[in-house]
Amino acid sequence: MVEEHASRLKPRGRELLGLLDAAGRVLAEEIHADRDFPPFPRATRDGYAVRATDVEATPVTLDVVGEVKAGAVTSPGSHVAKGQAVAIMTGAAVPEGADSVVMLEHTLRTGDQVRIERPVAASENIVAAGAEGKKGEQLLSTGTRLDYAGIALAAAVGRSRLVVHARPRVAVLSTGDEVIDIDLPPGPSQIRNSNSYSLAAQIQACGGEPVLLPIAPDERARLRELVEEGLECDLLLIAGGVSMGKYDLVEQVLADLKAEFFFTGAQIQPGRPIVFGRVPERGQEKERYFFGLPGNPISTMVTFELFAKPIVEALAGMAARPVIFTHAKLKSAIQRKTGLKRFLPGLLSGEFEQSQVELLPWQGSGDMAAVARANCFVVVPSDRERIEAGEWMPVLLR
Ligand code: AMP
Ligand code: MG
Repeated sequence: MVEEHASRLKPRGRELLGLLDAAGRVLAEEIHADRDFPPFPRATRDGYAVRATDVEATPVTLDVVGEVKAGAVTSPGSHVAKGQAVAIMTGAAVPEGADSVVMLEHTLRTGDQVRIERPVAASENIVAAGAEGKKGEQLLSTGTRLDYAGIALAAAVGRSRLVVHARPRVAVLSTGDEVIDIDLPPGPSQIRNSNSYSLAAQIQACGGEPVLLPIAPDERARLRELVEEGLECDLLLIAGGVSMGKYDLVEQVLADLKAEFFFTGAQIQPGRPIVFGRVPERGQEKERYFFGLPGNPISTMVTFELFAKPIVEALAGMAARPVIFTHAKLKSAIQRKTGLKRFLPGLLSGEFEQSQVELLPWQGSGDMAAVARANCFVVVPSDRERIEAGEWMPVLLR
């Protein structure tokens, strides 16, 4: 449902940024090849450029008629005729006449001659001009989040500036009478506001700009004021106050604003009371999506990753993609109550195809210390009471 709403969202604008400032941002233009990639047939090995038909039967001795280094434009005798070879370096342009490169390891040079010890297939150790991209071809599309590979490609086509989508402003409103600002000394029953910060970091990580609002008390009028302030942003995340307690006023305040609720819970743990909805257009203000995230710190984190992230990404202009899970083998058997799909802090380890995951001991949805030691959430299906060691488990990476 979230993904469907996300697919209809538009980013708020564009800006022109320097190449490196664009890292982590979302492209708002297409990037095209400004010439063929590679621009010439490129040798991928040090060795000798030859005609494959000359080295069908080996060993065979060829005349060395020249040498091409990477960057060399032309070199005397760089046309390779029958019975000839040209010494060539990785990254250099393969001279005309040659159709393959014999690796240096399979050759023996004596003066102006080289003994080829193994045959090569035509086009072996050469990437043809334009094979990676023809001049004018689209290499990156609008909606691509620029990671190091995208940045490299933009650099390779000579783009020192890129048009990217503006970051969406995402309001973060933590609620609760017990919650206080991190700069204040907490009283014995007070809890420092960590949710605003975990959410801000998560928003940043998926391309948004967090706007932290003051903490809302469990009091209707002030909560409404802050909710209305938050609705001025592109998306509002409210943390806490959605779990049906007597002072859980968030849903009431949103209902007062004529909010439409798409869902008010999910069969998951942590995160069961997650709320997703939309406040209709009011006067000058456009309609706005909001999430009510449960206030337990891990519930807040998990529900952001599962539900809020696709909306932030869509507002950031990213092409839609499903939440991605990986799989790993369970290190030791686990036993859990059935009924809810669980997202439990885990430690993913091992190498190559041996990836293993184990659950970390934790005290439940408030245990930030355990989650900080973990590197993933293991997804435990709702209908399995016991899962044996060695079974493949879905894992949500961090
Ligand atoms: P709630 O969802 O408001 O019922 O809160 C559930 C639990 O999360 C309670 O133990 C709260 O004290 C805690 N909590 C709520 N908001 C925050 C916050 N901003 N930072 C840290 N813990 C919080
Ligand atoms: Mg509360």
